[in-house]
Amino acid sequence: MKFLLLSCCAPCSCAVIKTLAEKAEDFEVVFYNPNVVPLSEYKKRCNENRRICEVYDIPFIELEYDHEKWNKQIAGLEQEPERGRRCEVCFYMRLKNVMEYAKMRGITHVASVLGVSRYKDLAQVNRAAYKAADETGVKYLEIEGRKGGMQELRCHLIKDFDLYNQRYCGCQFSMSEKTQ
Ligand code: SF4
Repeated sequence: MKFLLLSCCAPCSCAVIKTLAEKAEDFEVVFYNPNVVPLSEYKKRCNENRRICEVYDIPFIELEYDHEKWNKQIAGLEQEPERGRRCEVCFYMRLKNVMEYAKMRGITHVASVLGVSRYKDLAQVNRAAYKAADETGVKYLEIEGRKGGMQELRCHLIKDFDLYNQRYCGCQFSMSEKTQ
């Protein structure tokens, strides 16, 4: 069964991509992160994610960087803290867009690494994903990115490939916190 893997960055996705690639899973990585600012940072994360996909010979797709649309979605939630309501909307928007893209291509399942970082609320990501799945009819695939040695593997790969590892989650409101 083919699926799409929504990725936010190389550090969060490297261990998952390696593990899935070694299991010969049929998947493509989709980079849809209109939350990330500034544009130079977005490009850096995108290029690093592309690089790690090339290592494991996995297709990499970059969707539109529609930051204005993202701003509209989170309007009124600017003051929310990390893991608050703004983050839930942010996850939902990105997951729903990728599910719509999957549907357009006839791909039935979408997974993500949005909850891999220990700074993220995995239950919140899953909630947003199931809501998007209900609305689009695309199935959400929960994958393991934290347990079973995945965090250790992630650290090794970041070091081995000298991956750029950002200091903040992505949006303008997360820049003062170490959230990745
Ligand atoms: S802190 Fe991260 S998850 Fe939350 S709204 Fe900003 S970019 Fe999205």
